[in-house]
Amino acid sequence: MNCIECDAQVAIPNDAIQGEIVSCKECGTSFELVREQSGNLFTLRPAETEEEDWGE
Ligand SMILES: [Zn+2]
Repeated sequence: MNCIECDAQVAIPNDAIQGEIVSCKECGTSFELVREQSGNLFTLRPAETEEEDWGE
């Protein structure tokens, strides 16, 4: 799995779950793991947490 931004390797935990946030250690970009409909693979979607109001 490679970073969308800088193409560095992004480690996906073996127990990764849908919606988990992983960060590229090279450029610091955060990605949300999105499970592919066909199979057990994940795709990376840029996590736009900066403008998100999570509340408490
Ligand atoms: Zn990166």
